[in-house]
Amino acid sequence: MGETCDFLVIGAGIAGASAAHELSRTGKVILIERESQPGYHSTGRSAALFVETYGNSVIRAINKASRPFLDTPPEGFCEAPILSPRGTLFVATEDTLPNLKAAFEEVRRLSDTVRLIDADEVHRLHPALNRALIVAGLHSPEDMDIDVAVLHWGYIRAVRARGGLLVGDAEVLSLKRQEAVWTAVTRAGDFQAPIIVNAAGAWADEIGALAGAAPIGLGPKRRTAFTFDPPMDLTLPGLPGVIAADESWYLKPEAGHLLGSPADETPSAPCDAQPEELDMAIAIDLIERHTTLKVGRLVSKRAGLRSFVADKSPVVGMEPGLDGFCWCAGQGGYGIQTAPGMGRITAALARGDTFTGDFAALGITARDLAPDRPALKDAGRLKEDAC
Ligand SMILES: Cc1cc2nc3c(=O)[nH]c(=O)nc-3n(C[C@H](O)[C@H](O)[C@H](O)COP(=O)(O)OP(=O)(O)OC[C@H]3O[C@@H](n4cnc5c(N)ncnc54)[C@H](O)[C@@H]3O)c2cc1C
Repeated sequence: MGETCDFLVIGAGIAGASAAHELSRTGKVILIERESQPGYHSTGRSAALFVETYGNSVIRAINKASRPFLDTPPEGFCEAPILSPRGTLFVATEDTLPNLKAAFEEVRRLSDTVRLIDADEVHRLHPALNRALIVAGLHSPEDMDIDVAVLHWGYIRAVRARGGLLVGDAEVLSLKRQEAVWTAVTRAGDFQAPIIVNAAGAWADEIGALAGAAPIGLGPKRRTAFTFDPPMDLTLPGLPGVIAADESWYLKPEAGHLLGSPADETPSAPCDAQPEELDMAIAIDLIERHTTLKVGRLVSKRAGLRSFVADKSPVVGMEPGLDGFCWCAGQGGYGIQTAPGMGRITAALARGDTFTGDFAALGITARDLAPDRPALKDAGRLKEDAC
């Protein structure tokens, strides 16, 4: 007999932590993580932005449902704010102006604060942008920076306060169900629960395979980011995040430096993703051409995996024909900002409840997220390159 609980959550990134937080309201939760530190993979490598209009319609609904928690977390959840003002500025050259206008037509229906602005105003908001190239922008003043560590550790602390456990160095090696109980054999011992939640990020299909679930066709994609010193005359507080209208690069302040990314999406096997020199060189070239910045010494560099299924919506819900196995996967490039909503949805479906209320009002149903939805029917794995 191993350690027992009501819900065993596999993976202690933001997805597992938020699901564990919601599940721990009604039962004992054990959160097991392969690494010695939670957040070592995608969760600790994100750009930490909340962009409410980002993603497809399902993601946008979950963004919206997540915002109240991020704005006003429960009493005692954390000691610092989760969100802080940032704003985002999509910027266009002559060539990418049609992308910007199309984006504006789409998001103006979703937000009354998003504005299309001319080159002068773009330059006023971000003086380092290249005036000779940037012709217009789309300004979203209500987009925010997320303090990922505050959110992530807020969840984990709350789980512990309700009697739950976080167990590190606990890679799941096998999963077996017998007499309505799952047993996970891990490097840290055995754990048992009637319900397991698969929140293993890029490895979710591997965990599914251990349990005997059909693949959801998860395709991890590598994204690179690095930080560098801003010029002395650029004031970072108040500077918006800048995203190219064709999403070929982005730039934002991060911890007193500037973060740059080529917004790459290179297919990868699940792994400890590392930045490639070529991807960084591409980003540096794009940033230097579209701004007046010179990227000198790199302060840090990183890469992480953003994992998508075919329709780019998350996968949440019980695997048909496999009792007690709940998916919480496919968070793509939105897993931090959607965490509060995803946690609530995962907990409801893992308990066998439906989710209604604000989600229904926002127009999403369990079917949009189900592992056996039509869009995932032929879920052959996306092409995987070596990591
Ligand atoms: C460069 C970059 C920028 C991004 N920017 C943003 C952004 O601005 N806003 C946003 O919302 N999102 C952003 N994202 C996406 C976001 O980071 C992810 O969607 C999110 O972190 C996914 O969380 P997760 O918990 O599913 O995955 P992870 O954080 O990868 O966690 C999964 C965990 O499962 C564990 N695991 C796997 N297999 C096993 C096993 N066999 N046994 C035990 N444990 C196991 C892993 O060790 C890992 O810790 C970005 C991602 C990247 C890479």
